Amino acid sequence: MLPDRSGPATIVVEGEKIVRVSGWDEVPDGAVLRDFGRHCLLPGLVDTHVHINEPGRSDWEGFRTATRAAAAGGVTTLVDMPLNCVPETTNVEALEAKRSAARGKAWVDWAAWGGVVHGNADSLPDLVRAGVPGFKCFMIHSGIDGFAWVDESDLRVALERLKGVDVPLLVHAEAAGPVNAATESLNAAHAGWRSYSIYLASRPDEAELDAIALLIRLADECNAHIHIVHLSSARALPLLDAARRRGVRLSVETCLHNLQFASEEIPDGATEFKCAPPIRDAANREALWAALEQGLIDMVTTDHSPCPPAMKRREEGRFDQAWGGVSSLGLALPVVWMAMHRRGIGIDRIAEWMAAAPARLAGFQGHKGQLAAGADADLAVFDPEAAWTVTPEDLHFRHKLSPYLGGELRGRVLETWLRGRQIFAGNEFIGEPGGREQVRQ
Ligand SMILES: [Zn+2]
Repeated sequence: MLPDRSGPATIVVEGEKIVRVSGWDEVPDGAVLRDFGRHCLLPGLVDTHVHINEPGRSDWEGFRTATRAAAAGGVTTLVDMPLNCVPETTNVEALEAKRSAARGKAWVDWAAWGGVVHGNADSLPDLVRAGVPGFKCFMIHSGIDGFAWVDESDLRVALERLKGVDVPLLVHAEAAGPVNAATESLNAAHAGWRSYSIYLASRPDEAELDAIALLIRLADECNAHIHIVHLSSARALPLLDAARRRGVRLSVETCLHNLQFASEEIPDGATEFKCAPPIRDAANREALWAALEQGLIDMVTTDHSPCPPAMKRREEGRFDQAWGGVSSLGLALPVVWMAMHRRGIGIDRIAEWMAAAPARLAGFQGHKGQLAAGADADLAVFDPEAAWTVTPEDLHFRHKLSPYLGGELRGRVLETWLRGRQIFAGNEFIGEPGGREQVRQ
């Protein structure tokens, strides 16, 4: 899957880099030839929305387990979110702590988003100089008390401090007002929190619409690049479309679970599906697919966000008390491909949605996310025909609790190569962790 076409080709690798892409039968003399037959050769995927949780919460996840899950799924670059680690990545010392924690454990390349929280505007230029590719913030309580959410005036201060530095601000776009009001009225009516429909009602579309309307205004006024993470409400699409047509610098991602599941199919008490913003109904899901096909949604990420199983409170099954976050790292390729196949969408679009576009978001274009001369030789070998059922043994992240368990998937990652070296093949990890941090140049 090349940037401009798909078809038989030879990828010529020297050391860590792709040096040339040539015709299928143009193999340089003396080269060691690996023929992948009729399988798909994709650029190693880039997942810009992952919660690794280390340092500080390595009982939730960690560099070793998260990056193994990535390697097994053909993902060769992860960008870690700044909130679940302790200390949160809101200043350079915390970034250094993450760098030490990752040493010798990462099977794939990685980077760290910095955090924008209430009161840390002075740290933002230092974090940019230290190499973060951009920042993440919340407009509602993040679930982590140490990662304070931001209001409009905090956002203005942060965007002012980042003026002239071309890094994106990633935003969890839910406004607190509609969520709090809905939750209070559900509680007043003694709602049964084991029901997914109650949880869905507690996080209405209006929360996303209000937040996105404000973000469009700020991106426009401050000429900033704002990136909407995990868009769930398809009702926000017309707003985003109109703003982008006016030239407002917005990018948009949605996640595997928004594209795969539908709220009406989530069983009561199944808290492994809980995330925020929530998974909405099947009509909403189809509208997200249409927006992805039209290019209004730029990319697909996992938002892999695990916790210890006890925190999912599976016995009580109360959606108000369970930790929010879906575990899915390593499953993205077969999940998205299966859904594309059902909808008659050609497989070649996957390289843009899951490798090239996220690489651009993080400023890694040219190095990551495409099979082209000059890029790192990060490769995923994928059999698009394989049919399989997800078992706990297929999950390489720390806790084997995921809504995808037991699910039927289409397509399987056979091999993963990181910078010219095979790191995963035949369900085995090869060699030692050789992942490197990617910093903004
Ligand atoms: Zn997240």
